[in-house]
Amino acid sequence: MEEATTAATPPDRAPDPEFLWALQSYVMESGRLLVVEVDRDGCIIDSNLTFRSRFAGFASVRGELLSRFLSSGSGELLDIEPGLPHRTPVARVFQTPLGGETYLFHAYPSGRGIVLIGELANVAESDIVERMGSLAMEMSRLVRDLRNTNRELALANETNQALARTDPLTSLANRRFFMERLEDGIARARIEGAQLSLIMIDLDHFKQVNDRFGHAGGDLVLVALAGLLQSQVRGVDLPARLGGEEFAVVMSDADLRVAGDVAERLRTRLAALRPLDTGYRVTASFGVAQRRPEEDADALLGRADDLLYRAKSNGRNQVVLEPTAAASDHP
Ligand code: GH3
Ligand code: MG
Ligand code: MG
Repeated sequence: MEEATTAATPPDRAPDPEFLWALQSYVMESGRLLVVEVDRDGCIIDSNLTFRSRFAGFASVRGELLSRFLSSGSGELLDIEPGLPHRTPVARVFQTPLGGETYLFHAYPSGRGIVLIGELANVAESDIVERMGSLAMEMSRLVRDLRNTNRELALANETNQALARTDPLTSLANRRFFMERLEDGIARARIEGAQLSLIMIDLDHFKQVNDRFGHAGGDLVLVALAGLLQSQVRGVDLPARLGGEEFAVVMSDADLRVAGDVAERLRTRLAALRPLDTGYRVTASFGVAQRRPEEDADALLGRADDLLYRAKSNGRNQVVLEPTAAASDHP
């Protein structure tokens, strides 16, 4: 048999199962080593015969609190973080309740809680082991604190990222995130040869809304339009507030006809809303463009903007689609 590795360093490769079985048999039945497994509340789940014979007159101890039989000076037995590097055992000193006997245990994290393996201690050892145990406990606490801190940092990071891409008033994507997604969508469309369309939206005479109902009234209208956009587009589409009273929707895998239908539906639903609880009707103008081959984000945005401008100059409250290629070639 190969030389056994020391207790503190686990073997590099899986040990021979026969050897493990022999080791376990010895530990469980030696009559010298005490083995007890407790859950995170300190209740005994399992124990070997030696433990039961020493502390319970061979009676079952399952479900009993370990502290009934053994107490640790620091009372912190369970404050052990499983997953210390290399499953380092934590050395603990225990006393029988009346302080008669001292035991040295090594605590190992187990799937269900903690396994303690130990034996009657000689008093000279116990002090040094106690201190080693305290160090291990301290280390386990640091590991746990570090984990918690990392978790909190990750959470804060996520929240920051969400804030950085969201418009605070409407909770829609902001211009920055919209541009990112548009660029991504175009890259994907280029690779897959898929279609992509863009709807640009600008509220009509919005300054009048503010003048008449105040800035808060104007904000209500912006939120109402955002809600409409959220409810009317598909999950793969991204509605965004580009700024002020200007919105856009990027639609993946959608041609001009599909995007035009969506824009028309948005237009009629918006005109039917009464977000200000008065008879006041709010409308918007729409420009809809389908990406042309080799067109980049800025060119597509510029074209959709021109179409929106045309909707404004044609009298507002309307959708203007890009002319078909044939019509633009031969106007
Ligand atoms: P048009 O039909 O030509 O688009 O006219 P308009 O009045 O909508 O356009 P204009 O660009 O002249 O005015 C936009 C107004 O939107 C002016 C600005 O005060 C208002 N606005 C911009 N951002 C906000 C906001 O966050 N809340 C509110 N309430 N108003 C805003
Ligand atoms: Mg406007
Ligand atoms: Mg505007």
